[in-house]
Amino acid sequence: MEGALTARDRVGVQDLVLLEDYQSETAFLNNIKKRFKEKLIYVSFTYGQKKTFLLFLVIALKIIYSELYSNKKTTYIGSVLVSVNPYQQLGFYTPYHMEKYQGVNFYEMPPHVYAIADNTYRSMRNESSNQCILISGESGSGKTEASKYILQYLSVCSASNEQVEYIKSRLLQSNPVLEAFGNAKTHRNDNSSRFGKYMDIEFDYRGAPLLEGADDVLLSRLMLTKSPDKYAYTNQGKCAKVSSICDRRDFVAVQKALKVLDFSPKNIDELFCIVASVLHLGNVTFTQNEDGHAVVERQHEIQKIANLLGCQYEQLLQALTHRTIEANKEKMQSPLTVEQALYARDALSKAIYGRMFDWLVSNLNRSLTNKDLMRKNVIGLLDIYGFEIFKSNSFEQFCINFCNEKLQQLFIELTLKQEQEEYRAEGIEWEPVEYFNNKIICDLVEERHQGIIDILDEECLRPGDASDNTFLTKMEETVGKHPHFITHALGNSKLRKTIGYEEFRLVHYAGEVTYSVKGFLDKNNDLLYRDLKVAMSESKHDIIKQAFPVTELARLKRPETVGSQFRTSLNRLMDILMSKEPSYVRCIKPNDAKMSDRFDETLVRHQVKYLGLMENLRVRRAGFAYRRTHEIFLNRYKSLCPSTWPHYDGSPRKGVDVLCKYLDYKEGEYRLGKTKVFIRFPRTLFATEDAFQI
Ligand code: ATP
Ligand code: MG
Repeated sequence: MEGALTARDRVGVQDLVLLEDYQSETAFLNNIKKRFKEKLIYVSFTYGQKKTFLLFLVIALKIIYSELYSNKKTTYIGSVLVSVNPYQQLGFYTPYHMEKYQGVNFYEMPPHVYAIADNTYRSMRNESSNQCILISGESGSGKTEASKYILQYLSVCSASNEQVEYIKSRLLQSNPVLEAFGNAKTHRNDNSSRFGKYMDIEFDYRGAPLLEGADDVLLSRLMLTKSPDKYAYTNQGKCAKVSSICDRRDFVAVQKALKVLDFSPKNIDELFCIVASVLHLGNVTFTQNEDGHAVVERQHEIQKIANLLGCQYEQLLQALTHRTIEANKEKMQSPLTVEQALYARDALSKAIYGRMFDWLVSNLNRSLTNKDLMRKNVIGLLDIYGFEIFKSNSFEQFCINFCNEKLQQLFIELTLKQEQEEYRAEGIEWEPVEYFNNKIICDLVEERHQGIIDILDEECLRPGDASDNTFLTKMEETVGKHPHFITHALGNSKLRKTIGYEEFRLVHYAGEVTYSVKGFLDKNNDLLYRDLKVAMSESKHDIIKQAFPVTELARLKRPETVGSQFRTSLNRLMDILMSKEPSYVRCIKPNDAKMSDRFDETLVRHQVKYLGLMENLRVRRAGFAYRRTHEIFLNRYKSLCPSTWPHYDGSPRKGVDVLCKYLDYKEGEYRLGKTKVFIRFPRTLFATEDAFQI
């Protein structure tokens, strides 16, 4: 029909490699916009070229499957799925859909998180290799939802027996528990993940998930200690809405889950008491007496908190307003100022909540661990807080954004860089793809002795006049010339208008973020006065007692700062992820209003940019879909050519050369590297496979 819209006009392409104008960000954007309007929230990057070839691809892949996978050194660019948050419930997460995606090839079905999950699972089983799925995107873009669907899918598609069933149900149960305690409402997302959640789902030789071991489950502690901050202090007075744990339905679900996970009724009770105590602590205020010392305003609050925590009222009250100082071997009680008391209160809340969360995670791991299984492969699932740019950004955003820089590094390392390096190593000529390597920003933050984290630590350790402002000055002295760092003093007159005196700006890969230095030193120190530790360690409650061990009081060493701990755990996480084969879910938020029918182009364009999607697409278009060693390729296809079959005694590379020419491969379609042959499009291979079948 003339003038009628084709399906392609209406819904765009589901495979972005098929975009005609693949260099154009606008075409890219229009495509996802069209699909979003049609409630088609997923698109993928594959090498598939034409639909008619898809069937061949499946057949071909099934035949050459084992061969491809036996070639372990092959680096593939991991599959990439782009997902746009629909902000509405869509009907394609049913058991029916799960079944449809089981065992099919990535190219066979419309893009879906299930396709990524299924592919990862099958690669893991067939190759016996460790996999990871990295889910990234800004806050509210749908990472946690995606990870839940993946978890569900994996637990449905993996083999089952009684023992495995038991563990699977526990695995799924652990999610609401971690969510209830680890999430908070932020401006951007009603259910924002405040802790980095890295789950390794282990599989036995039959391929069923287990979750095991504190080493493999990496949870960023630092962000947890921040959570009560959000709960009790940013939502002043609105405790009922503070965390999803207060929601009746969630509360029941979490309680049930905790029971299933074998937490004792006493411990469950204590957990809730702790959460409540933190909320109450947030309401504690101080006034100043004639001597300028802090006095608790409503002492009955302290009574409540002491009850909830199982500790002594008098002791707690005293510890919130005094510090014990030792001078000349004599102990003295030094009263705190209101400011110091507020600091002590906040530090206590954070410590209680953070340590409770650690306790919870290690007990969950214990509950989920199964030591009996012999052979294990892992699928790691990483859902981490997204990039944050608020009006006012502080130490928390600094940590979160640094984490996202590191994840971007990993993505660059594993996709763009490795891919290009392989071509170089193989001596294959091709147009290098320009991309922005954000290593320079990671270094600015984490480099030893001259990165921001170390500068901050130095100021935290320095006795005397160290303050947030001296930290700012130190940064100006040390990294002032860095192209990604700017402050009021360093900027030109135009920039000065946009940066305050107590701010610094980092040019992140995702955009510029201005941080206020206020509170950086305190937040990095996160010091809990000893008196409060003592009060906690004498608690009657198990969890608090375990979380504040007496042994800690004897230790004289200064605890590691928050920033350093964060850096260490991030780098550990990167090492773990580097050892696995990655797949990616890149989540996009369509608008800031959480609406299902709004597609804010500026907002999405920005995300497409910082997710590096255009670069990734270019690498794919420029790159070669398949590569195999000359030996494997020749062995498989030598019978198709009289010069290589039945007799051939030259080098494998020469043999492949002869073979490809005989098969009439077009010049641009393949390249011979030093050890491997590279084939640009799957269709080239299908035709060969086809000939092979006849
Ligand atoms: P953060 O970094 O703050 O943790 P996030 O990327 O994990 O953010 P989610 O919590 O997954 O964001 O998503 C935010 C909200 O968007 C969800 O609570 C849900 O309402 C909606 N949402 C996300 N993905 C989907 C989806 N696939 N289907 C329906 N709703 C979705
Ligand atoms: Mg989340």
